[in-house]
Amino acid sequence: MSKIIVMMGAPGAGKGTQARLLQERLGLPQISTGDMFRAIKRAQTPLAEEIRPFMEAGGLVPDELTIRVVEERTAQPDGKGGYILDGFPRTTTQAEMLERLAAAQGHTIIAILVDVPFDILEKRTTGRRDCPICGEIYNIYFRPPKVDEVCDLHPETRLRRRADDNPETVARRLETYERETKPLLDYYAHTGRLHHVDGTRTPEAIYAEIEKAVTSAK
Ligand code: AMP
Repeated sequence: MSKIIVMMGAPGAGKGTQARLLQERLGLPQISTGDMFRAIKRAQTPLAEEIRPFMEAGGLVPDELTIRVVEERTAQPDGKGGYILDGFPRTTTQAEMLERLAAAQGHTIIAILVDVPFDILEKRTTGRRDCPICGEIYNIYFRPPKVDEVCDLHPETRLRRRADDNPETVARRLETYERETKPLLDYYAHTGRLHHVDGTRTPEAIYAEIEKAVTSAK
């Protein structure tokens, strides 16, 4: 049966990196609400003004708006065979909506927690950079590019740092995660759909475990 793979984890846990690998290797679309909101913000529409204060404060965009964006995106034909959700759901209301959506679309849900201790998350976020051309994710502490601040694959392009990856906003995003999103782990665990992976190992080792969990899940 087709699957919705829900990538869970605190900011900086590496769920985006894993979601990208899953997309490349399983051929399922990666749907990242954070990426979609950043694109909306860059487009400078009235919607951008609506979401900006929440994102800049390290809080959550309201459920109603988030749900609308996810409904529209997952209705695209590329999601017919399943898809990867990166950064959604983050609240109980969003998780309830996803159950209804999965039932209507005929998918089953599998949740993957990429688990990383709190003290590592700060360097994972504040050191994070990405390439504006290909989206490749680097980290100045753990996975530096060959040349400082430049993509290995696009040497003419300077890497970007996300506006919300500064220490103050990171602290608030971690609080938001603890309060709003962590309770969802129990929800998926109780229904037997949560797979827990140790996110402190290499991306390839983490990926191998996730792929096994995903392909063996019914
Ligand atoms: P991310 O790239 O997943 O860390 O998301 C960046 C920011 O986008 C978050 O800090 C939130 O402000 C917003 N955001 C992303 N996904 C959601 C969601 N599912 N619900 C509410 N806000 C979200």
